[in-house]
Amino acid sequence: MKRILSFLPSTLVAIAILILVSCNTNQTGSSSKGQFWERELGAVQNTALNPSDAQKELNLKVDLIPEGKYGRRLFREMTPQYITIHSTQNPTGDAYAHAKALNRGALRGGVCGYLCWHFTVQGDTVIQHIPTNERGEHADFDGPGNRYSIGIEMCEHQGNDQLATMERTAKLAATLMYHHKIPVENVRAHYHWPREGYNPPNKDCPHFLLENGQPGTTWRWFVGRIQRHYQRLAAYDEALQEQRMKEEEAKRRKQMVQRFWNVLTDFVGLG
Ligand SMILES: [Zn+2]
Repeated sequence: MKRILSFLPSTLVAIAILILVSCNTNQTGSSSKGQFWERELGAVQNTALNPSDAQKELNLKVDLIPEGKYGRRLFREMTPQYITIHSTQNPTGDAYAHAKALNRGALRGGVCGYLCWHFTVQGDTVIQHIPTNERGEHADFDGPGNRYSIGIEMCEHQGNDQLATMERTAKLAATLMYHHKIPVENVRAHYHWPREGYNPPNKDCPHFLLENGQPGTTWRWFVGRIQRHYQRLAAYDEALQEQRMKEEEAKRRKQMVQRFWNVLTDFVGLG
């Protein structure tokens, strides 16, 4: 009995260590990429941000495909309801090279005969290729991904800063959510739009934000990052609204005091 008792504490310690180690492994194993990137980037500030300042931070260059040509051959109006995130899987082309290719109709495919999407992002800049009220050809042929979503491609060329690209993309998506009133649950990976006639129908895109070809903890981390950037813009609007309400209230009080003063001066014959 005594021997069992003296054996028991060391066994308990061993079990406790085992539980701790396995919990730790689970934690890092389940969201290691997102956690690592979050540490590298630092937390998103929780202060309000003026949406026009946020737009300046994007370093957006507008270089539209010529109207009526290639990917804009047919004018197809769109009211964006979703944002679709892709990655180029192109080790050689930067954002400028993709803009050039789109502008001369070098990328064939899709329903209209030419591929096109709205924005290409690299570490230091964003290039816009088509207006956000025109549909693109980047996701699922004639499916809802193309008919209702703004397409964003993240560059993967050698020498590009992947972390800065993801962060710039998150900020761009937040700005688009704000301007087009798109809820965060409508920010989708290309994966979410099945392509008819393809096997598998759901593309492993953007591959570095997916786990085994499917959205998981890394994708959820990225969407969370977008949401935190969006909250800064929403907070600016809320603060502005609050300020306006305070001003209205102050004006109302001032008018009340003035009315009271008028009545008083009339009454005592001072007016
Ligand atoms: Zn894609």
